[in-house]
Amino acid sequence: MTSLTTETYGVINPSTEEVVREVELYGTPETDEAIQRAAVAFETWRRLNPADRAALLRRFAAAVDADLENLARLEVANSGHTISNARWEAGNVRDVLNYYAAAPERHFGRQIPVAGGVNITFHEPLGVVGIIVPWNFPMPIAAWGFAPALAAGNTVVLKPAELTPLTALRLGELALEAGIPPGVLQILPGSGSIVGERFVTHPAVRKVVFTGSTRVGQHIMAGCAEQVKRLTLELGGKSANIIFADSDLERAAAAAPGGVFDNAGQDCCARSRILVQRNVYDDFMALLEPAVKAVTVGDPGLETTTMGPLISAKQRQAVAGYVPAGAPIAFQGTAPEGPGFWFPPTVLAVDDARDRAFREEIFGPVVTVTPFDDEADAIRLANDSDYGLSGSIWTADVGRALRMARAVDSGNLSVNSHSSVRYSTPFGGFKKSGLGRELGPDALDAFSEVKNVFIAT
Ligand code: NAP
Ligand code: MG
Repeated sequence: MTSLTTETYGVINPSTEEVVREVELYGTPETDEAIQRAAVAFETWRRLNPADRAALLRRFAAAVDADLENLARLEVANSGHTISNARWEAGNVRDVLNYYAAAPERHFGRQIPVAGGVNITFHEPLGVVGIIVPWNFPMPIAAWGFAPALAAGNTVVLKPAELTPLTALRLGELALEAGIPPGVLQILPGSGSIVGERFVTHPAVRKVVFTGSTRVGQHIMAGCAEQVKRLTLELGGKSANIIFADSDLERAAAAAPGGVFDNAGQDCCARSRILVQRNVYDDFMALLEPAVKAVTVGDPGLETTTMGPLISAKQRQAVAGYVPAGAPIAFQGTAPEGPGFWFPPTVLAVDDARDRAFREEIFGPVVTVTPFDDEADAIRLANDSDYGLSGSIWTADVGRALRMARAVDSGNLSVNSHSSVRYSTPFGGFKKSGLGRELGPDALDAFSEVKNVFIAT
């Protein structure tokens, strides 16, 4: 490689506001060189026999596993994730790699009966895939893109968020150590408007996977139209946590903080609108208050901490804007004073669907609680959103659980649980929450084209 631009970025620890490391940023010429290397590597990687490609992905998974504690500690320092979350995230990278390591040998085509010959289909890789990652889950979101992309025979250029490049850079090193050939998975730290934008405009990048804000996603979608470039979008959310009077209220209240304040609310799946049936509203709030006050906010490196800081001063300022003086605060937890981008878990009592705290993605530890009357009212409120990523339904009535799950316009729903993401099941959004699905058995289709071949006999 020729020299990088001299521009560097000082990565900040959000718990201490201290610089962790200086990272060299890619400019457009370096990005073009990386894309060119990926295009060359593609010609070999796509032809590697399926068992060898599978074995390399399993070796990559093993290298991640061996480095798990280091990766987790890096994420604590770079992103302020709690150590237990960060370990889960590094473990998720390993699991996603192992899951898709089974794919190269099982990505079957079909033989379709036709007259006059034999008809077969192939899944052809696309070429170079550009993955653009946000700062909120640097490791999992990277792996949800690169693992299926590599398994399907593509090569990858990946841009981490400028704020959080450290674990992605380490994953790139681990891939090389595991024997993944140079050029197959490259990590390109840099800004969205330079490196990310080039993935959209460079003709050798045949697909873009973007996770981030709806605003930038729309811009990327428009840019990809120019070349009819393939695109997966994972965007924002404003998910509902719907609690019926017939549910186990104690369990629902105990689980609600985790459903929204995990990762300090910086989660596209955050259940940031709690909807509670009116006749149990007061009972629910009485149970929710101690659960919120029990959230332990502080040093994310400690095993006992359940919530860390926000990612940046800018993010904290944006979140604070949803809790102005006079905001309808029902109750609030605590947060440390002094350095670090801290914000306390905050519950707002909001009875108006036009309130901006009810409508906009806050991406911080702020949740609204709103009463509803019956199933129809709950569905109306839940669907009164531009977003449709996830959501939860708490009820003891199986019929109601299924009716609600079918009626809420959202890609990932859980009943009596806040689980959204499993590597073996599809993940993605309705409406302005995104386009396409990641994870699960079908993600390979998002990284390949179906080719039909007829052979006359
Ligand atoms: P963002 O500003 O959209 O940034 C996301 C990524 O896109 C970053 O790597 C960013 O680079 C890059 N980017 C920015 N402008 C770009 C451009 N013009 N062309 C190409 N790439 C560009 O979002 P964010 O503020 O980092 O993250 C928070 C948002 O992401 C929230 O709205 C959240 O809901 C959403 N999100 C969604 C999911 C999901 O799975 N659905 C997951 C996580 C986050 P820089 O680092 O230079 O900004
Ligand atoms: Mg941004």
